[in-house]
Amino acid sequence: MIGIVKSFGEHRVLDQVQFPLREGEVHVLAGENGAGKSTLMKILGGVYAPDAGEVRLLGRPVRFRSPREAALGGVAIIHQELSLVPSMSVADNIYLGRERTTRGWMRFGHQHNESTRLLSRLGLDILPCTAVGDLPISFQQMIEIAKALSLNARILVMDEPTSALNEPEVERLFAVVNDLKRSGCGIVYITHKLEEVYRIADRITVLRDGRWIATAPAREMPAPLLIRHMVGRELDERVTAGRTIARSNAPVLLRVEHVTVRSSRRSARPLVDNVGFEVRAGEIVGLAGLQGSGNSDLLWGVFGAFGRRRVSGEIRIGGAAYRPRSPGWAIRNGVALVTNDRQRNGLVTGLDVVANATLAALPRVSPAGWLRRGEEVALATDSTRALRLRAASLRQRVATLSGGNQQKVVLAKWMNIQPRVLLLDEPTRGVDVGAKQEIYQILDDWRRAGHAIVLITSEMPELLMLSDRIVVMHRGRAVTAMERKEATQERILHAAMGGD
Ligand code: ADP
Ligand code: MG
Repeated sequence: MIGIVKSFGEHRVLDQVQFPLREGEVHVLAGENGAGKSTLMKILGGVYAPDAGEVRLLGRPVRFRSPREAALGGVAIIHQELSLVPSMSVADNIYLGRERTTRGWMRFGHQHNESTRLLSRLGLDILPCTAVGDLPISFQQMIEIAKALSLNARILVMDEPTSALNEPEVERLFAVVNDLKRSGCGIVYITHKLEEVYRIADRITVLRDGRWIATAPAREMPAPLLIRHMVGRELDERVTAGRTIARSNAPVLLRVEHVTVRSSRRSARPLVDNVGFEVRAGEIVGLAGLQGSGNSDLLWGVFGAFGRRRVSGEIRIGGAAYRPRSPGWAIRNGVALVTNDRQRNGLVTGLDVVANATLAALPRVSPAGWLRRGEEVALATDSTRALRLRAASLRQRVATLSGGNQQKVVLAKWMNIQPRVLLLDEPTRGVDVGAKQEIYQILDDWRRAGHAIVLITSEMPELLMLSDRIVVMHRGRAVTAMERKEATQERILHAAMGGD
């Protein structure tokens, strides 16, 4: 891949990226969350068309206009999100979208036999007629690979394939990867685990902020260098200076002990595995972790998004036992979750600022079921003024606000329920630089006002600037915690990638 450029709207996600893949090599594509890895591979796989640049296969320029064309051209991709149809059989999934027919008759027998052959090549002891949904996730991953094999793919891309797998399943996957490599297949492997990188990679390419940074044989790019390439940017010292450190004698508002969040798929490893931490009033604790680390699942679990059954362990809010059964319940108990996903935050974009800012606080502005217009407007006015919302008027429809201002409405909405514990999952993603600075200021104000805040952000400078303490997660576990003054981008990333 040469000179690949790709933008989504205004946002340039890939800028003149090159990526060389050889026959019979395992090439690890590395980079922080948001670096552009998945997008680059989706261009290779015909999901997106590049704005500029060229994809060459065996020296010849190719332009895949769909995943189907890419598959027929020998490129198979196993995406982060698996693409199998759970209700269909293994064989049907392997041949999905290209059922073999002879004069209109599907060749069931042929597909069945081919599937059996492929499954046994992968060492899988399952019948082709089994429904995919009945199989564990690791088998589903293998079926994606079987699908790739059935295409005689020359290139196989695996986007974080092991994030849901347990150890023996990872071993099986690696055996298959080595087998494919020997048969001349070029393999792109995206992973956030250092141990995997150095077990499996022949070469490594690093992307950072949508740019190509380096390509080198794995032995010439040891872990410290890889991490330096990934982090790259120097941290602006100003952002970490002059912060007051939270008082260590403030009461603990949120305590999480031995919390485990099970996956919805049977036999997959837990999303969150026996994690504990605490947050005092007036403290921001950063939950660092790469994709699949479980940091987000932990927040959503505390917020009640998984209900009660999948979350075990002990959670206390202000000393009282707290068993999150639903988001509504969490909100009533003083816990708010801010994301940058408008749907999940429940912004009703067709309604105006007033309605949205007071949505979660309805019991406050409508005691006994009567909506008090005056109070509603007063509440919306106070909260949006405090957040320096820029809107033509409070009657402006939220849909017509900029992303940054929409996010401020989300923040206003949650502040109006006066939560004790604020959980923030990427609160500034997709927000422009100016609004980001203002959101930082708001978070700092909240912190000073004595809220307990847990923050997830994939932007390392943001994490280091805002957090009093940083807990790093890897594969569902909290692997280390550091005070802000001992935290560096390199230390955090090293721990997040499972380094010692
Ligand atoms: P990675 O896989 O390295 O974590 P991605 O390729 O998924 O990174 O994303 C790179 C950037 O592109 C991110 O900022 C992400 O938000 C953005 N992005 C990815 N897909 C889309 C899309 N379909 N529309 C808009 N932005 C996108
Ligand atoms: Mg990705």
